[in-house]
Amino acid sequence: MKDKKLNKYNLSRDIPNIVKREVRQRDCFGCVLCGNPIIQYEHVKPEYKDAKSHDPKGITLLCGGCHDSVTRKIIPKYEILEAMKNPFSKQQGIASRPFSISKVPPIIKIARTESQNCKTIIKILGEEVLSIKAPIDDSPYYSLYFNLKDNNGTQILLINDNEMVLSSKVFDIKIEGNSVVIYNEDEEKVLALANHLPSLPSEPNIIEIEKLNMIHKGIEIEFYKKSGRVKSSKAEITLGKNSFIDQECVIEVNKETINLGSGGLTFLEESTFNGSKTTIINIGSG
Ligand SMILES: [Zn+2]
Repeated sequence: MKDKKLNKYNLSRDIPNIVKREVRQRDCFGCVLCGNPIIQYEHVKPEYKDAKSHDPKGITLLCGGCHDSVTRKIIPKYEILEAMKNPFSKQQGIASRPFSISKVPPIIKIARTESQNCKTIIKILGEEVLSIKAPIDDSPYYSLYFNLKDNNGTQILLINDNEMVLSSKVFDIKIEGNSVVIYNEDEEKVLALANHLPSLPSEPNIIEIEKLNMIHKGIEIEFYKKSGRVKSSKAEITLGKNSFIDQECVIEVNKETINLGSGGLTFLEESTFNGSKTTIINIGSG
């Protein structure tokens, strides 16, 4: 009996991960036609039914919408072959898509620290890294800003006003379920950012940094699901189970100090502050 998962040359539908990565890197992580980073892998030449191997040269990235348009013959196939020579994201240097954020203040989760309705979540040496803006003018939605650069100043991820921009300078990017995962050359996850969508319009998004392991402007940042640490040359904070509501800033790293919270409501249980005598613990009163 013929296995339905195989074509006439006994080639499985499953494209090996190493081939997928090569295709992602070559096409710069976005649909070759429109740059959407939510992608599918498509055998173009030859088509899967006629393919004897998973040769990356014949495979490309397409988003669901463009894939559907090709299947329904709205976009001709030769346009994909043309686009494969000069993928959309390669021309732009980026792949981008909108990031869906709720009409109520989203909850930001970093390790076991949660914050809601706080303006700035992370500020490093005067520069906003992660922040939330309330709806303005014509938009009913909260606006997320996340600007992540590595120690060399290379842009890793930018979310500006809910528009997610993935840099083609990054080694590898995968959209895994509702998470964006960015890898470095050593196959390590640099960032895993999940956006848990609400089921009702009255509920908030939960934006969770599942992992962030990097040095930003000389500041060591290590966030995991259960633990978090921020370290400068003079101060260090270990994040415990905290809750911040209505704050100006949640984590503020300066040259000699690291502040946790600033005004508003704070529920601090276990965060610890190590090292430098100059570390300021600024616990808001609310
Ligand atoms: Zn597309």
